[in-house]
Amino acid sequence: MYTEQDTRPLQSLGESGGASGSGRSAPGFVDVSGVTLSYGGPGGLKAVDDLTLSVREGEFAAVVGPSGCGKSTLMKLATGLVIPQKGNIAVDGKRVTQPLSIVGMAFQNPSLLPWRTTLDNIMLPLEIVSPHRERLKAHKAEYVARAEAMLSLVGLKGFGSKFPWQLSGGMQQRANLCRALIHEPGLLMLDEPFGALDAFTREELWGVIRDLHQAKGFTVILVTHDLREAVYLADRVFVMSARPGRVLLEREVDLERPRPIELTYTAEFNAIVHELREMIAQARADTPRIGAA
Ligand code: ADP
Repeated sequence: MYTEQDTRPLQSLGESGGASGSGRSAPGFVDVSGVTLSYGGPGGLKAVDDLTLSVREGEFAAVVGPSGCGKSTLMKLATGLVIPQKGNIAVDGKRVTQPLSIVGMAFQNPSLLPWRTTLDNIMLPLEIVSPHRERLKAHKAEYVARAEAMLSLVGLKGFGSKFPWQLSGGMQQRANLCRALIHEPGLLMLDEPFGALDAFTREELWGVIRDLHQAKGFTVILVTHDLREAVYLADRVFVMSARPGRVLLEREVDLERPRPIELTYTAEFNAIVHELREMIAQARADTPRIGAA
């Protein structure tokens, strides 16, 4: 399962891509090409059909669309958790044929283990992913320092010894992001990570992920229902349609970085959100109803 690409230091991704990855030419870091997947085999309902999209190295991409359009399926396909019946998926130039370990993932539910401290939760991937698994024992202090540095980066300095149940929902999600990034993945997949948080905490977390991306230069694919979140964070927004799930269109977000949160109150920002809302309304109107002729 472990391949040579996994050892590529994060720095090298940042140098060649970086957080301002927009404008780079193909090939993409994540290339999904003509992908079809039906759950329950080829005769089943097509979750995605002829799905094609390409995300540049270092780019922050957001995927939006109506429920059931295949956003989560796209996440599973790009990380090798499911293999398509048709089409190709490549990450970092290599065809995806099995689960990838250069990926970090975070979901709406932080799912931290309650019997482990925050620090030990963050270090969990290091016990599983090579080459860290083999190095962990001999280089424990180095890895603890790395985990503590991550905690500082997300504003949780000093909270490593707390258990998850001693943290607020927002703090747990910060720790969850640390855990997703501790093995320095080249690709971060976020599936509605801030969906369960209140509006203020969500905006704080936007700032956290914005700064992590800026500092580390990894590639991000964010699945979200929140158009403001997509526009605020992403370099490019892909709009998907349902039945069949495929990319309807994409929209570059050419708002200057760094982006202060006040940007979300400007007319320029709201015009893009409005434009995307119209696109999705159209996608919903065009979606055939199940059972309709
Ligand atoms: P989204 O994340 O955009 O809501 P999903 O990728 O979860 O969409 O689902 C896409 C389509 O595939 C939906 O019609 C959904 O009902 C179907 N689907 C998802 N997972 C499964 C599964 N494990 N078995 C059967 N159908 C599924």
